[in-house]
Amino acid sequence: MAEQSNHTDGRTRTCGLIGNPVEHTMSPVIHNTLAANFGHNLVYVPFHVEKDLDKAVEGAYALNILGMNVTVPYKTDVIASLLEVDELASRIGAVNTLVRMEGGYKGYNTDMPGLYRAMKEDGILIENADIVILGAGGVARAVAVLAADKKASRIRILNRTVEKAEAVVQEVKEYFPSVDVQAMPLSDYAKLDGKEWIAIQATSVGMFPKVDAAVIEEAGFYEKVKVGYDLIFNPSETKFMTLLKHAGKEAYNGLKMLLYQGIIAYELWNECEVTKEQAAVVYEKMKKEMGC
Ligand code: NAP
Repeated sequence: MAEQSNHTDGRTRTCGLIGNPVEHTMSPVIHNTLAANFGHNLVYVPFHVEKDLDKAVEGAYALNILGMNVTVPYKTDVIASLLEVDELASRIGAVNTLVRMEGGYKGYNTDMPGLYRAMKEDGILIENADIVILGAGGVARAVAVLAADKKASRIRILNRTVEKAEAVVQEVKEYFPSVDVQAMPLSDYAKLDGKEWIAIQATSVGMFPKVDAAVIEEAGFYEKVKVGYDLIFNPSETKFMTLLKHAGKEAYNGLKMLLYQGIIAYELWNECEVTKEQAAVVYEKMKKEMGC
């Protein structure tokens, strides 16, 4: 695959990222590598937006920018500046990708389809599975909507602040009234029956630099799980993953989710399909960038 190209001319299309901060983003690696590989005349640039989000979106449209990613802290606030919002993104309540259309941008959420595609590639299917989600923040809520949308058999949301998990349950039930979803405090993990749970770690516990912690440390939890996904990708092996491995279970980090959220955005902007082989090359580049 070609290296990232720096060539720009009068026909170059621009995509970018809106966020604060954006200094450590991996997205340029994903998109500029794909552009070089496809031979697309496209550059991807991070934009540090401190305030005036609505003006940033308006300005992007005026500058003929093809598409934008949106990251922390704007994934929910950006919705007010959009012409249309895709149905899944609307249910999740967060947009991370803007696609240019006549008169403005349409908002999508590619984080969750990205997680789904990453899990599928690793042979893990949500359909008819028992899913335990750790956390009840923005990402955990999105995972709960994804799990309900993909018809998981049972969904359990465990959080330190159980009221937040209960609020997520209510939100999920608004769209999926018949889904089997319940909130529990983290300490109630022993009430999960069976040993076939797919665990999705969606808290910030264990993230660099505080790498020596897992949101549940007790071995009893990991015995109930058949496979675990940590949405954190720095460090590449979190303590949650180490505990899973000690229990003899499969463990994955969140780097592939990051890869596929980017790939799905790129496909939306360019109306193309990224092959598995292209994805694998970008993934290797991301791992190199992460130093792993
Ligand atoms: P958030 O809204 O701030 O939620 C944080 C969650 O972590 C809450 O459930 C919170 O529990 C819990 N938590 C924090 N400190 C805790 C502690 N000491 N003990 C127990 N629970 C604790 O964060 P978010 O935006 O949902 O992001 C969550 C994670 O997803 C982050 O680590 C981020 O790296 C990851 N992520 C990955 C990707 C990817 O592409 N792979 C994309 C986006 C995000 P309380 O409710 O009790 O406070």
